[in-house]
Amino acid sequence: MTFTLAIVGRPNVGKSTLFNRLVGKRLALVDDQPGVTRDLREGAARLGDLRFTVIDTAGLEEATDESLQGRMRKLTERAVDMADICLFMIDARTGVTPTDEVFAEILRKRSAHVILAANKAEGAAADAGVIEAYGLGLGEPIRLSAEHGEGLNDLYSQLMPLADKFEERARADAPETDVSLEDGEDDGVRVPTASKPLQIAVVGRPNAGKSTLINQLLGEERLLTGPEAGITRDAISVQMDWDGLPVRIFDTAGMRKKARVQEKLEKLSVSDGLRAVKFAEVVIVLLDAAIPFEQQDLRIADLAEREGRAVVVAVNKWDVEPEKQAKLRDLRESFERLLPQLRGAPLVTVSAKTGKGLDRLRAAVEKANDVWNRRITTAQLNRWLTGMLEQHPPPAPGGKRIKLRYMTQAKTRPPGFVVMCSHPDKMPESYIRYLVNGLRTDFDMPGTPIRLHLRSQS
Ligand code: GDP
Ligand code: GDP
Repeated sequence: MTFTLAIVGRPNVGKSTLFNRLVGKRLALVDDQPGVTRDLREGAARLGDLRFTVIDTAGLEEATDESLQGRMRKLTERAVDMADICLFMIDARTGVTPTDEVFAEILRKRSAHVILAANKAEGAAADAGVIEAYGLGLGEPIRLSAEHGEGLNDLYSQLMPLADKFEERARADAPETDVSLEDGEDDGVRVPTASKPLQIAVVGRPNAGKSTLINQLLGEERLLTGPEAGITRDAISVQMDWDGLPVRIFDTAGMRKKARVQEKLEKLSVSDGLRAVKFAEVVIVLLDAAIPFEQQDLRIADLAEREGRAVVVAVNKWDVEPEKQAKLRDLRESFERLLPQLRGAPLVTVSAKTGKGLDRLRAAVEKANDVWNRRITTAQLNRWLTGMLEQHPPPAPGGKRIKLRYMTQAKTRPPGFVVMCSHPDKMPESYIRYLVNGLRTDFDMPGTPIRLHLRSQS
């Protein structure tokens, strides 16, 4: 066994929902009404390659009187003492409540390892709550949506180093411990393994050269295509060392090869691509130079952007491209026009077949990942914001100027920013674009999706 994680927090923040997700079976009750009586429950959890025990401390009513407060405290303390790591959950939509403060206090005193999660964080309505969560003094909150399965990669990233520690401890007793996952295992969340390879998805239309590319990187014909019966539900993944960069690459080609019905083909490869995109940190959109930016390519690139992934566009089969110069100009122009949401993303020409350009692809992938992880200090941001406002003041709809007061980076992967402002609903899209483009240029964040949320504060 590796470690035990307790999920604690006041009622109705979404603890059971996360528990269910980690355990993968509907073991715990989920109910909209606070106060469904439950006790501590335990389950065998998995998150990517991590295996651990999870304890859910559901079964608490909101503590309105002293006896309830006492019970809540007791139950929480029991869970905390049983666990190696505590996941403290708040509801980002509600924000931090006095009860949350009580929990935070217990955890600060009692738990060695606390991970703070702001749940129900899908959408902008949660931004304020996420920012408030910083104030609990328990470190940076993870933006989580237990219901939609978002933020699990971040949870994984925080659990990983701790898990390593507990595993080392366990290894001292049982040196044979092995909890690694087989490639292609189909449930759980796919996140980096112990050495934290960079997760890369190679997506693109059928015949773009995805398998060829991966095989070229692997240096041998190792990519499984499998027997033809049925359709594998998963992208195939391989872990490798890409000139010193540990990576795990998801390929979506296997599926297409097994799809028998021709007309289903497009639909299948898009949904399969979607799965790979969800697991990825960097998405390589592989185009065929002869037929670049087809509908399907655009869809998958847009999807990667909406999922908030770092994107690199690779144009394949460059070895047989007759008009390289003209073509490249053409490609750049199409890229700007058809995928403005990915402005500045690297476009690299490659030949999967000969291996040419793959060193540049590697560099682009690494850079895209760096940008995706970029963190800018609040001080830097606010200095920058002042300059932007001076250069180009915000509009004044109906004679009242919209005031932007303060700005902070709420998250990375991709970079997400929150700006406190008056009348956010009146802010025109064009001004938001001005700010996002400014961030992109001034902080050198080409290509990555950038999220900017306005939050009301008059
Ligand atoms: P617990 O009392 O902390 O165990 O909370 P539950 O897991 O029972 O969840 C309480 C309510 O919040 C349920 O209606 C869930 O469907 C809902 N919920 C849980 N997670 C999320 C989420 O990520 N987003 C949203 N919008 N609702 C959620
Ligand atoms: P996938 O469906 O995206 O996995 O595509 P494949 O890797 O199966 O490649 C489709 C076809 O394109 C095969 O016939 C490959 O040999 C060919 N191909 C792939 N990459 C290149 C390349 O860089 N240059 C040329 N000339 N052909 C390529």
